[in-house]
This record gives sequence, structure tokens and C-alpha cells, in this order.
Amino acid sequence: MKASHIIPFFICFLCLQFIGCGTAMLSDESLARRSKAQFDQMKNKQSLSSNASHKKMVERIGKRIAGVAQVDLPGTEWEFVVFQKSEANAFAMPGGKVGVNSGLIELADGNEDEVAAVIGHEIAHVAMRHSNKRMSQALRIALGGVILDTAMRKKNSSDRMIAGGAYGVGTTLGMALPYSREQEREADQRGLFYSAMGGYDPRAAVTFWEKMLKKNKRKMPEYFSTHPNPDNRIKFLQSNMNQAYALYVEAKNARGETPNP
Ligand SMILES: [Zn+2]
Repeated sequence: MKASHIIPFFICFLCLQFIGCGTAMLSDESLARRSKAQFDQMKNKQSLSSNASHKKMVERIGKRIAGVAQVDLPGTEWEFVVFQKSEANAFAMPGGKVGVNSGLIELADGNEDEVAAVIGHEIAHVAMRHSNKRMSQALRIALGGVILDTAMRKKNSSDRMIAGGAYGVGTTLGMALPYSREQEREADQRGLFYSAMGGYDPRAAVTFWEKMLKKNKRKMPEYFSTHPNPDNRIKFLQSNMNQAYALYVEAKNARGETPNP
């Protein structure tokens, strides 16, 4: 490698180090305010479920699991809404706004433990401030690009192309994608423990994803575009199951209820 090429690669390396740190740098308060406004707009524009028992169930699950998650993100104004939509999907926004589609509850055959598995996952995304971290990362990528561009301005165009190309590939494949998968894993694990601590049978996470897998053998559902492959996810959940089951038994005993064997 020529000496003139070492400098741009060193700059890339520095930028990638900078981007790599997965910390949240935006204001949680302003993100919460913005997502509340967006969530209110969704509630006005989209049709909400009129199924009273579905609504009650989602609110009950939400209250119980958010109660567990509260220690990780105190002061969150949680809100749980059932949207009348056929896709089996759920989402969460910063500040504790959680949406569950009626199609997801139907896929779970109304099984409360299974719905709790999904809500636990969504609550974990919020409690771990994943949106803030993701947006902060995008900002760092943009900022890193500006720094690099400024540093390279005096170099000849072929050097700039090499450095820019390496930087682009690095940020897309090396950083951005695995980072998001890592968050999904974090949410799967934390969500499993949250729902178990809320007194929901954690094994329902596996049966739910098996149903999802069976139903969507051919069609790639919306949920999979932003969430990991269900096969890998089931294996990962199972690897955490002993610990989750112990938490569940503890929670059930504390509630004076009998845990599922
Ligand atoms: Zn997720």
C-alpha cells in the first residue's frame, strides 16, 4: 500500500471507531414528544380495533410488563393500542408508545402468553432506547462522512474514490446492519425476561414464532423485513429459556399463582 493511501484508510478507521459506539446521544424527552405526536396521528388516521377483549388484554399485558421494565426507563408514559390491521405485526416508539395489530392477536389465537412475548420484545426496544441509539448512529455516519470529505478535499480524485468506497462499504455492511440485528437480539433476550418477570410463560415466545413461521412459509411478512429470521430467533430464545422459566416460576409464586409445569 502506498503511503498516500494509508492516511485515508486511517481516517476511515477513526471514523468507524467513532460510529461504532452504540450510545444514545439525542434527547429522550424530545424523541418522546415527537413520537407521541406521530402516534396520535396514527390513532386518528388508522382504524382501531373495536374488540373489547383484545383491547383489555393488550392493556393488561402492557401494564404488567411495563411495570417490570420501569426500572430500566423510569418516567415513561406507556400507551398500548390495538390497530385493526390484518398483518401480524407490532411496533414500539420512543417514549413508550406501543401498537399491536389485530392480525397478530388472531395469529396467536388470543393466547395471552404469546401476545405477551411480542409485547415484551417491543417494550424491551423502548426500555433499551434502541431508536435513540439507531438515530444517533445514523447521525454519526452522516457526521463521519462530512469529516472524511473535508479531510480528503485536497487529495486527488482516485484517492477520494478509494477512501469514499471503503468508508461506504464499512458503514453499510460492517456497522449499520449488524448493529440493528444486535438490537433485535437484545430485545429478544430482554423481552423474554420481562414477560417472564411479568408472570407470562416465556415458552410462548417459541410457540408464537413457530406459528408465524408456519403461516408465512411462502410470503415474506412485513415483520421479517425489520426482524430476524424466525429460525435463528427460536434457537436464540431457547438458549435463554432455562433462565426465563426460573424467573417466570418466581413471578408466579410471588403472585400466589401456580406456574405452568
Ligand atoms: Zn424488534
